[in-house]
Amino acid sequence: MAYGLGIESSCDETSIAIVRDGRELLSLKVYSQIDSHSPYRGVVPEIASRAHLEKINSLLSVAMEEAGIEFSDLNYVAVTSFPGLVGSLMIGAQLARCISLVYGIPIVAVNHLEAHLAVIGLERELPPFPWLGLLLSGGNSSIYIYKGFGDLQIFADTQDDSLGEAFDKVSAVLDLPYPGGPYLEAKANAYSPIPGEKNPFPKLLKEDGEDLIRFSYSGLKTAVLYYKRENAKSLPIEKIAYYFQKTAFELVTRNLGKAISKTGIRTVVAAGGVLANGTLRDCLEKEKERSRFDLFYPSKKIYCTDNGAMVACLGYHLWKQKSFVGLDFKVSPKRNFEQII
Ligand code: AMP
Ligand code: MG
Repeated sequence: MAYGLGIESSCDETSIAIVRDGRELLSLKVYSQIDSHSPYRGVVPEIASRAHLEKINSLLSVAMEEAGIEFSDLNYVAVTSFPGLVGSLMIGAQLARCISLVYGIPIVAVNHLEAHLAVIGLERELPPFPWLGLLLSGGNSSIYIYKGFGDLQIFADTQDDSLGEAFDKVSAVLDLPYPGGPYLEAKANAYSPIPGEKNPFPKLLKEDGEDLIRFSYSGLKTAVLYYKRENAKSLPIEKIAYYFQKTAFELVTRNLGKAISKTGIRTVVAAGGVLANGTLRDCLEKEKERSRFDLFYPSKKIYCTDNGAMVACLGYHLWKQKSFVGLDFKVSPKRNFEQII
């Protein structure tokens, strides 16, 4: 039996989890900093690191108590070490170092993006590698090739805004609260399109051929802004939200279909905060039928946003591989391990 602690502090969620054998969640505590950042409509790094510092110890105590284990029972401490806000990552890293130093427990440094994909292991047997990892979050619109634990390579990326960022910016244009994802989704769900109605927004990257796989959402954001100006007198917010989602998700499914034909990899794992969106999940399910691939994503929404359980879960597999780091391990804002600072 292996007990692992997962520490997540890369952005605006402070989270601690305890997992048994990489499969069974014993405790998961998440403190979301959304209320602190929402007046600024985005994550303020200084506020984030301060909030992590203030909350992380109490989350740890509560999680340990709920799991009913002692620190000396832990087999490993897994911590997000990249990518993320450096000041925030350092808070989690320092906690991991303290626990490791006091109790002699090995540290496993975890790639946050990889953890988002590996978290499906808490809900089911992991499918065999390789996987295509579709990551749609506040910082990513990307497709990765995931060949094995610790081996994640970027395959397709965004040219500008990530999908989560587009949701947040478009919601700001429509005067909806931050973060915009859930609010835009609720507005979109409230709209029933008139049969034959034309989508007011143009198809994204329509010139891209089969070989060019990339994301770009800044054009859609601008299209929404112009549409708002032209319809300022009576703004059809539900309609805009509906067609924003339709246009944005069409690019996701199109790119996924292309990635599957290009790589021949037919196991897709999707993750990130935007996966909390029910319409996106439906679109991916439809694409799965059309392009015939195996699709996995976390069924619990708490596993979609940043959480310590994903860190503890991936940490288990890295621990089994003996991928430990010393107390002097580094954190990095970059997603490429080679470039770690
Ligand atoms: P993450 O970066 O993984 O923490 O995810 C945060 C991002 O997910 C933010 O940009 C949110 O707006 C977005 N998000 C959260 N819930 C939803 C939703 N229901 N629909 C679309 N985007 C969402
Ligand atoms: Mg977050």
